[in-house]
Amino acid sequence: MTKDLAIPVDTLRYVGSKRAKLLSQLGILTVGDLLYHFPRRYADRRQLKKLDEIIPGAQETVRVCISRWEEKQVRPRLSISRALIKDERGSGYAVWYNQPYIKKKLPPGTTVLLTGSVGRYGFWPELRVEDYEIEGEMDNLNVGRITPFYPSTAGLSQRWFRLIIYLALQEYAAAAPDILPLSLRQRYRLPGIEKALWGMHFPKDEDERRQSRRRFVYEELLLWELGLVLGNRNREKNVGIAHRGGSELVARFLAGLPFKLTAAQERVLGEIFADMESEKPMARLLQGDVGSGKTVVAAAALVKAIAGGWQGALMAPTEILAEQHYLNLRRYLTPLGIKIGLLTSSLNQREREEVLAGLEAGSLPLVVGTHALIQEGVNFRALGLVVIDEQHRFGVRQRASLQQKGDRCDLLVMTATPIPRTLALVAYGDLDISIIDELPPGRQKVITRVLTESQRHKAYALIERELAYGHQAYVICPLIEESEKLEAEAATAVFERLQREVFPSWRVSLLHGRLSAAEKEEVMQKFYRGESHILVATTVVEVGVDVPNATVMLIEDADRYGLAQLHQLRGRIGRGTAQSYCLLLTRSKDGAVRQRLKILEQTSNGFAIAEEDLRLRGPGEFFGERQHGLPEFRIAVLPDDMAALEQARKDARSLVDQGLIYRPEFQALLRVVDNKVKNLQL
Ligand code: ADP
Ligand code: MG
Repeated sequence: MTKDLAIPVDTLRYVGSKRAKLLSQLGILTVGDLLYHFPRRYADRRQLKKLDEIIPGAQETVRVCISRWEEKQVRPRLSISRALIKDERGSGYAVWYNQPYIKKKLPPGTTVLLTGSVGRYGFWPELRVEDYEIEGEMDNLNVGRITPFYPSTAGLSQRWFRLIIYLALQEYAAAAPDILPLSLRQRYRLPGIEKALWGMHFPKDEDERRQSRRRFVYEELLLWELGLVLGNRNREKNVGIAHRGGSELVARFLAGLPFKLTAAQERVLGEIFADMESEKPMARLLQGDVGSGKTVVAAAALVKAIAGGWQGALMAPTEILAEQHYLNLRRYLTPLGIKIGLLTSSLNQREREEVLAGLEAGSLPLVVGTHALIQEGVNFRALGLVVIDEQHRFGVRQRASLQQKGDRCDLLVMTATPIPRTLALVAYGDLDISIIDELPPGRQKVITRVLTESQRHKAYALIERELAYGHQAYVICPLIEESEKLEAEAATAVFERLQREVFPSWRVSLLHGRLSAAEKEEVMQKFYRGESHILVATTVVEVGVDVPNATVMLIEDADRYGLAQLHQLRGRIGRGTAQSYCLLLTRSKDGAVRQRLKILEQTSNGFAIAEEDLRLRGPGEFFGERQHGLPEFRIAVLPDDMAALEQARKDARSLVDQGLIYRPEFQALLRVVDNKVKNLQL
């Protein structure tokens, strides 16, 4: 008989309403959730030492007898309880801070297991106790074993967690339903659910822990991959829009461009058009390095949709970028007689209403905008194609909410963040991928140099020279992740120093995230028109800004950025035909830091840089704290568990392809997947 684990967690002993509420903050509502609340780390407290063996400074575990207590109130908020402890080989002291009740729990004569760090008390070794266990009581949940430590929150102690999970395991583990069928478990020699649950929480040894973890990693990744595969199959069954025709208008659009598409652009455009023409809804990711010409490709797709009488929408993460797309598209599309609206939060009421009315009536075929596009009140008459730029800045939900303004319309998402193939499979497993792997001809490679503080004058000299040639320069200010305000202040300081002391005869301007949209616009316009020569900016220029006359970029404290982000920033220069220079200043004396930056001197291939960044920093850092669209795995860790992910991906595909997934043994697994697919609207 299996037991239902979906019962509320407060049915357990020692879980009252107060603690149940705290548990819910951790996402634990049911007994099942609790059993899947796995330790964050473990401490190996198995080895028992004798009192004459313990070493000051070390973390040790001993089995001793309490012999006598002394207590001291040192300050109003600091009490010390100290016990004289003995074993057959010696004696010493054990100390607890601010736990006056401990004396009652462990009266003289009690045999206890203690663990803690070793210090000295006079001539004696003294153990600062972190955990204790009365011998014979419970199963030594805290000491004398590999002890689990749980993700927790204020008010829930580790001791309590260990106890309730232990009790829950005793009551439920044997009867827990195993969603992994025996056939799969046997194939990979994975432990069954009961053994694996015990092995995660209270492993006998390292091997048991490893085997148990392996099982839950596979389970988690298989669920994820099945969700993607089944979500895709659902989408493929959907009938969407078949964008037919439009080739004449597209041809006119392409003929009107001042350049010919590269072979890579031609190829991806072919892939996109094939998707658009099919009646199955398109969901395609267009990846391409900065400057590879994604926007033109997207514009061609929009022209095709509009030619067939549908509306198009392009969403970008920042106002600057949205405006830039708007201006570019207007330049390309006005000659074709296609009207475009701009929708951002800085429009006034009248402008906004005009755009909204046009979209609703269908008289406005194309709109470019920011998050403002997904707000309520934005309605389309016939939305046929959604394009999302810098898609990693948006979450899955935001993507979906723009798409839902149409009826199963086509979706094209773009990113210049070169995502290593391995991660793309996870992050965008629900998308087909097109890659522009070639830059337009005539681009010169940006010369990149890592400079130390003592070489700063060289950087300034180079800027001076480029300005004298009539070019322009960017100075990127130190990244301050925690605070946009501090970042703006730091940028202001750099700006003032450069204008007054370093480049008094040139016009310097300042761009940061705290300026209003109108102020930003004005600063950018001045820089476009060449009225200012140096733009001091924070990373707000990271995306999209396109001033081909700018040929130098100086990045302050470059070591604070990830390589992929530096590469993005560097993409703002080298956009014209003149040789461009990127100077990475660092104050770090750390050789490894310098070495990391030097990767950028050697390569301009965004994918290679991203792979390297991922290898050096791991996916958490790689994607930063921003919304990255990567799924949050609870157990699996990428890229460590990449092999398991690839296996799970293969298995998910073949289970679905061969129809095995609909067999009775997979029923429980399928039910979990179905719930996930519904929640994510994949
Ligand atoms: P991305 O969005 O991929 O960073 P853009 O679409 O903004 O790149 O293109 C960068 C620049 O290159 C733009 O100024 C664009 O007009 C130009 N461009 C795009 N495709 C070509 C091409 N095939 N040949 C020459 N220039 C191109
Ligand atoms: Mg772009």
